[in-house]
Amino acid sequence: MSYTQRVLASLKAKYPFQPEFLQAAEEILTTLEPVVAKEPKYEKYKILERMVEPERTISFRVEWVDDKGEVQVNKGYRVQFNSAIGPYKGGIRLHPTVNEGVLKFLGLEQILKNSLTGTPIGGAKGGSDFDPKGKSETEIMRFCQAFMIQLHRYIGATVDVPAGDIGTGGREIGYMYGAYKRLTTRYEGVLTGKGLNYGGSLARTEATGYGTVYFTDAMVKDRGDSLQGKKCAVSGSGNVAIYCCEKLYQLGATPVTVSDSTGTIYDPNGIKVDVLKQVKEVERARLTRYAELVSTAEYTPVEKYPEGKHQVWCYKVDCAFPCATQNELNEEDAKTLLANGCKVVAEGANMPSTLGAIKQFLDAKIAYAPAKAANAGGVATSQLEMEQNAGMTSWTFEEVDSKLHTIMTNLYKNVAETAREFGVEGNLVLGANIAGFRKVADAMIAQGVI
Ligand code: GLU
Repeated sequence: MSYTQRVLASLKAKYPFQPEFLQAAEEILTTLEPVVAKEPKYEKYKILERMVEPERTISFRVEWVDDKGEVQVNKGYRVQFNSAIGPYKGGIRLHPTVNEGVLKFLGLEQILKNSLTGTPIGGAKGGSDFDPKGKSETEIMRFCQAFMIQLHRYIGATVDVPAGDIGTGGREIGYMYGAYKRLTTRYEGVLTGKGLNYGGSLARTEATGYGTVYFTDAMVKDRGDSLQGKKCAVSGSGNVAIYCCEKLYQLGATPVTVSDSTGTIYDPNGIKVDVLKQVKEVERARLTRYAELVSTAEYTPVEKYPEGKHQVWCYKVDCAFPCATQNELNEEDAKTLLANGCKVVAEGANMPSTLGAIKQFLDAKIAYAPAKAANAGGVATSQLEMEQNAGMTSWTFEEVDSKLHTIMTNLYKNVAETAREFGVEGNLVLGANIAGFRKVADAMIAQGVI
């Protein structure tokens, strides 16, 4: 058995109850095969065994009082996965599906993603099984404060810098930041995604969605095509999906779908981004509200989805942008997209495609941009926020956006060249994993073993 397969087998034996983590590890380890075969030092220093085990996992109880005066108890975590190339960095997810395995998958992805940005940040992820849905403003605030009462000991501007993810946006970061400051008396860039009047960066909100489209633009241009005139299916309706739609319009493409956990919107005339922002950012409502406001929108509730498929992937489109959550696009969905002529898939969410779906895309040799490359613009701009905080300054929107554009274009080139170097031109899964891995692995070797 090869080195990578041995490491994968031992992970499967050790963590059978962490399916998402095993899925991410399998995707990564299988593609690292050629680089570990070529460079024996990685096996000699047991880099794979070390890289798949977090440096540290902190788990804690989060207790808070709801509006009825009842005590609530949640589980909180921070997985500090790898600090070889910089302070731990990664978002905080608040969702009932959060558990240690989910955060380990996200943390492992984050190590390589952060490395790919070309900036000095390590990999981490955190979160809680707290469900923000249906909670009042004050309940959200109390939860965020309770979460930070536990977390503040383990983070810091040069130690570990959390940010947003599903369920954690500007509002939650604000409450967490306020709690950190009160607990520590430190005014420092300990979180990113902050409000603009207390150290946040312009363009951070837009960055993940914009970055995904910048990456896609570079990828399709490299294939002699462009986004101009393309019809695009976008899933999700959070921050990533909204700004993915916005940037698609700016580059001449038309997003025709969005979705949330209750249903899918399809509008052949194009999604109305201003209405979407109103519904999701201001009203914090469901997409049924969008359907009420836009008469041309066709709404399909989840109960009406075709068996085993997601409605959002059933339309005839040129490009697909999964921007919702993990495993939202399965093998059947991939086949449907390909049968409908889809030639471009770029992942704004983390691990949205199952292993079966990825295989379909790679076999069909379409332009497929894996998450850790395509959605790296969010964390890259978080690092730009850290830079601004460290320099006690703030840059203009145009400055940050142009840096983001440069980062995503260079990231595409690096990943595409790495794929070429290993003789699999166009396989950006392998390109991203190897390019991200090498930098971290070499830093780990250079820093020795204690
Ligand atoms: N949660 C985002 C991600 O998956 C952003 C993390 C960050 O900005 O630190 O990359």
